[in-house]
Amino acid sequence: MTAHEALKTYFGYDDFRPLQAEIVQSVLDGRDTLALMPTGGGKSLCFQVPTMVMGGLCLIITPLIALMKDQVENLRNRDIRAAAIYTGMTYDQQKVALDNCQWGPYNFLYVSPERLESEEFRERLARLPICLIAVDEAHCISQWGYDFRPSYLKIAEIRDLIQASPQPLPERKGVEKVPILALTATATPEVVDDIQERLAFREKNVLRKSFSRANLSYVVRQTNKKADEIVHILSRVPGSAIVYVRNRQRAQELAAYLNEKGLSADFYHAGLSSNERAVKQEAWKKFKGERLEVKGEGTRIIVATNAFGMGIDKPDVRMVIHHDLPDTIEAYFQEAGRAGRDEQRAFAVLLYDPSQDKAKARKRVADSYPPKEFVSDVYHKTCDFLGVGAGSGQGHTFILPINDLCRIMHLPILQTCSALHLLTQAGYIDFQEEQEIQARVKILVSQREIREYGLSEQQNQLLETLMRKYSGIFTDLQYVHLGGEIIRRLGDEARIHELLVSLAQRNIITYIPHDIANTLNFTRERQTDIHLSTDIYDNHRQQYIEKLKAMVEYADNNLYCRSQLLLSYFGEIDAATCGTCDVCRSKAKG
Ligand code: ADP
Ligand code: MG
Repeated sequence: MTAHEALKTYFGYDDFRPLQAEIVQSVLDGRDTLALMPTGGGKSLCFQVPTMVMGGLCLIITPLIALMKDQVENLRNRDIRAAAIYTGMTYDQQKVALDNCQWGPYNFLYVSPERLESEEFRERLARLPICLIAVDEAHCISQWGYDFRPSYLKIAEIRDLIQASPQPLPERKGVEKVPILALTATATPEVVDDIQERLAFREKNVLRKSFSRANLSYVVRQTNKKADEIVHILSRVPGSAIVYVRNRQRAQELAAYLNEKGLSADFYHAGLSSNERAVKQEAWKKFKGERLEVKGEGTRIIVATNAFGMGIDKPDVRMVIHHDLPDTIEAYFQEAGRAGRDEQRAFAVLLYDPSQDKAKARKRVADSYPPKEFVSDVYHKTCDFLGVGAGSGQGHTFILPINDLCRIMHLPILQTCSALHLLTQAGYIDFQEEQEIQARVKILVSQREIREYGLSEQQNQLLETLMRKYSGIFTDLQYVHLGGEIIRRLGDEARIHELLVSLAQRNIITYIPHDIANTLNFTRERQTDIHLSTDIYDNHRQQYIEKLKAMVEYADNNLYCRSQLLLSYFGEIDAATCGTCDVCRSKAKG
């Protein structure tokens, strides 16, 4: 089967988009490949098509669980077998997925980078018929990127493991080794080098699509009345819009303010449950057309933190407004680029209040990199708070109520969060904010005793289902999935929660409801001294300052075409002027 036939047969498309065919061919030739393509350019097909041609299993490393689930769902809808493994799945669920990939004709296995550190997973990996390793959001491997994830550094090792495997590799037409395909939508020249080096590319090989977006006009608006400016803009330019803000409370307040002014808006941030987020996102996606007013279906404007947007494929976004300066040009370009995927005219507007925003930028640096002694202090206070003594703790995961920690230990919250992230980068702990924690249940009485309680039919049904699905539920708290079958039999989530609470009140079960919480895992036993290396602290701090400075320079600039400025940041130095940004327009007016 040729690549073109696979494209048509499995995905139903007639033609490749620009650069897709070249990338697919490079992979089929067995070459390590770094593909740079703007968001929405169609990166997924670049590993999906060659995998179907080769007929093996593609291992995809990707940082976002939501995206992972989306892609698996999409593939399954096309009758292609795909599985995903991520934190929060039960051991049994993971085992089933891996068994399927080893024995069944599965073509895609999505994993989060943290999986690569698990010994068990590594052992299994060597036995999978892997024909391609795809690294999505590959910039995460680079410390010079804007979203560094230490686990990405394990990928090169994984490749050695797979290479060393005795598993006969599926037919790949004379290709000896499993190639790597790295994909990203943002990479500066130094990150491009870094990715290839850290993934141990056999030879350098970059395929790059221009990042220029002819239909997108970049605008910077200086103002010290940002909310009113937003109302002003959105009352004149119709169509779907995203407004990015830096904090959650602002998201909520601004959405309310826009509603007050007769605009249809809602807010979105990572503090909402995944259900709430899905509902808001769907309502926003539903909005169609050029309306300005509230009437009709869907939410026109979503006011969101940067938690919004990854993997959301809405082509007709007409406007992306930034209320605050993003931390980096990379983040700005990515977020602004969500406007105008349909190639129709769209606007990316950055609101800028020079003196205020510069002061805020300086404060951001101080908040993100508190003094080293403070970081060490946070480490010990957190250990004390969690009851972890010297020399213990390794491998334990805790739920960390950060507000309580800060109140009891008299710590400032923002800097404390930053300190925990620095400690994560330095390898002492693994701190993750706002993870969805699945509900947990343990049954406290024997199966025979249950009958004596005279429970309702629904209560009995629920217990029966749980016993059947989770064999260890009599001995240990089990993570339980309260969807699918249980929902079909017993009603919605709220009803099931009620039933479980009623059972817990009668001491028949222990029930820990689904929650969103910060988790902290001790990757090492509690240490006496904390050392933050120059690399982890000083270099990163310097880098953070420089990236923020580039962002401020972009906002301050009124000499160069904004499109040219952005593209040159990503290494495209020969781009033409756009003619539609505020700088080009003011020049044209003379
Ligand atoms: P990226 O990862 O680069 O942001 P995706 O892989 O998510 O982009 O693709 C974006 C959208 O483009 C998807 O809906 C996908 O189905 C569509 N797409 C990709 N390639 C093609 C093609 N050759 N023909 C038609 N649609 C395509
Ligand atoms: Mg993608």
